[in-house]
Amino acid sequence: MCSFMAAAIALTIFLLLTPGKKPQGTDNTAADPAVQAEPETFTSDYWVNNAEFTSAGDVPVIHSYVPWGSPRRPGEVREIRYLTIHETDNRSSGADSEAHNSLLLNDTTNSTGWHYTVDDHVIYHNLPDNEIGWNAGDNRTKHGGNINGIGIEMCVNLTNDYEQTVRNTAALAAKLLVTYDLGVEDVRLHQDFMDKVCPHRLISEGRVEQFYQMIRDDYTELLRQQVKDTIKRGTQHE
Ligand SMILES: [Zn+2]
Repeated sequence: MCSFMAAAIALTIFLLLTPGKKPQGTDNTAADPAVQAEPETFTSDYWVNNAEFTSAGDVPVIHSYVPWGSPRRPGEVREIRYLTIHETDNRSSGADSEAHNSLLLNDTTNSTGWHYTVDDHVIYHNLPDNEIGWNAGDNRTKHGGNINGIGIEMCVNLTNDYEQTVRNTAALAAKLLVTYDLGVEDVRLHQDFMDKVCPHRLISEGRVEQFYQMIRDDYTELLRQQVKDTIKRGTQHE
């Protein structure tokens, strides 16, 4: 069984067993459990490569990190080279971003972990960007998806507006590319790292190029805005 199928089944079981259960630590204003538990061995620049956006496009980003000690958070610092795009493959009506966040925070039976979960109205930030997450299925391949990718899961539950989810993911991807000085060519699909059709719906509907164009448009707009802001700041100093 592949890890994501296992994750999807685990989430379904989790939802069935915990009706109405709310995810923990999902409030932007709540104390950050990761910071509280930061190992002493990490240097002060540990958090430098971890963007904490409050929004991407018009969508709020909620930082809700998997706690230290969970197998889903190996806590290894690494270099960021790619974004890795996935879909959850879980069409259950409750399998939204909040439910996946809750699974990541509370289920310790699996080591699968990723950095962002996106649905049609909210984005959960589940692992700091500068830490490894096991989601690409390529073990410890040098310059591979696990070691160097920021894993992004798009929700495909039937009550979710998939079109909006794709747009939200493109907006998040563009923001991450600009932040970490990457290019659109550094956005990879899960299937680029292993033999698996993921993100399944995007690929099977022949929409990969359309998705890349969305990212390109958002990325160009962000850079244009940056230039405008720089010019504006320069003018204000005169
Ligand atoms: Zn995947």
